Order: sequence, then C-alpha cells, then structure tokens
Amino acid sequence: MNIILLGPPGAGKGTQARILVEEHGLVQLSTGDMLRAAKTSGTDLGNKVADVMARGDLVTDDIVIGLIAEQLDGEAGEKGLIFDGFPRTLAQADALEDLLDKKGKELDAVVEMRVDDDALVERISGRFTCANCGEVYHDKTKPTSQDGVCDKCGSTEFVRRADDNAESVRVRLSSYYRNTAPLIGYYHAKGKLRPVDGLGEVDEVARDIRKALGV
Ligand code: ADP
Ligand code: AMP
Repeated sequence: MNIILLGPPGAGKGTQARILVEEHGLVQLSTGDMLRAAKTSGTDLGNKVADVMARGDLVTDDIVIGLIAEQLDGEAGEKGLIFDGFPRTLAQADALEDLLDKKGKELDAVVEMRVDDDALVERISGRFTCANCGEVYHDKTKPTSQDGVCDKCGSTEFVRRADDNAESVRVRLSSYYRNTAPLIGYYHAKGKLRPVDGLGEVDEVARDIRKALGV
C-alpha cells in the first residue's frame, strides 16, 4: 500500500504516519524530516534550505523531488510507503507519479486530513518531539505520561521546531492554501481522495483513516 497524507501544517500527518508505520509496517517518507536532518548535520543542502524553512516558505521542487527519488532508489523503494508532507505542489505530484511509475508502484489513496485553522495554530504552538525517536507530543493534548520522559524510548531530550512560531505558521498556512490545496482537486479527479475529519482525538482519527483505507 502506498499512500499520501495530505493536509495543512499541524493537521496530524506525522502523528498518524507513525501509527500506520507501527500497525502496517509501512515506511514514512517525510520531506520535512529529511530537510531538518540535512540542516542538523550541516550539509550543503541543509545550509541552503535553512532560511527558507525558517520563514515557512517552500523549498524548491527539484530539491524535494530529489530527496524522494533517492529514497525510492534505496531500501524504502521495496516497501509500502506513506508520503508525509510531499507532494506540496502540482509539479511535485506529477514528479511523484513518474517516480512511482518507474518503480512499478502505484498510489493507492490520498488521505486528506481536514482541520480548521484555529485548531492548527493551537496544535502547532504546543508541539514538541522526542529528540531521540521522533515521537510527537503536545503540551495539552498529548503530554508524556511521565514528566520529561519519552513514552516510546525513555529519552529525556525533546525539541521544539524553530519554525513553529506565529509568523512562520502564518506563512506556512498561506502557502498550503495557495500551493498545496489544489492537490485536493487533482487527486479527487483521479479517484484517489479519501477525506477524513482530522479534528477528533488521535485514536478517533486513526480509526477513520483505517476505515477510509479499508485496512
Ligand atoms: P503535521 O505532521 O501534520 O504537521 P503533527 O502530527 O506534528 O502534524 O501534529 C501537530 C501537533 O498536533 C502535535 O503536537 C500533535 O501531538 C498534535 N496532534 C496531532 N493529532 C492530534 C489530534 N487528533 N488531536 C489533538 N492534537 C493532535
Ligand atoms: P513539515 O515538516 O512538513 O512541516 O515541513 C517543514 C518545512 O520543510 C516546510 O515549511 C518547507 O519549508 C519544507 N518542506 C517540507 N516538505 C516540503 C515539500 N514537499 N516541498 C517544499 N518544501 C517542503
């Protein structure tokens, strides 16, 4: 099964991707995570995209398409895939189709996670992740069970994203509506779109996604 999780920043794509990975053995391909990893390790690519990401603007299509192509050529290319945060433009969607085609793979479904703007801002402003395993938490809706200790791996180190600030969130939201929302029509026309209410609790959303995917 190869799926896209489509939705605005903070919709819960990463959270739901991790659940699908655990339950169905799929591989999560998050271009945001790949770009942040490049930034942290100080590669040329990381340095090149740092300012754009801090502002909340989109990185150029060729860069993210290149990252996904690399993954498809590697081990991930043999597995079922969850695309998280990719594609974000029509050019990226076309490129993904070509890349999957070349691998003899097909896109099964595009889960559109619907969450309103007020909830997105609330979610993004409380987000933090485990620095070791990447588990996603929220100050109010999903705190760690034991204060300061990751439920999944026991690490005591956590990070907050530099771009999770009010100004960058405003830019990211407007970029979503301008560049990415047109993909909803694009995938609807292909009969792949599966809209899901993303406003419920994490478990409820996971249940709706399972239902939408028939798994
Ligand atoms: P995205 O990957 O779409 O940007 P995340 O999965 O990182 O979104 O979720 C953003 C924030 O919202 C995180 O702090 C996460 O814990 C929280 N969150 C995710 N899903 C829900 C939900 N269904 N209800 C409440 N909070 C959620
Ligand atoms: P995310 O982790 O998906 O919220 O992405 C964080 C940031 O990385 C975005 O605000 C963009 O600057 C950049 N980014 C991630 N994925 C893409 C993509 N598919 N196309 C362009 N920029 C991206």
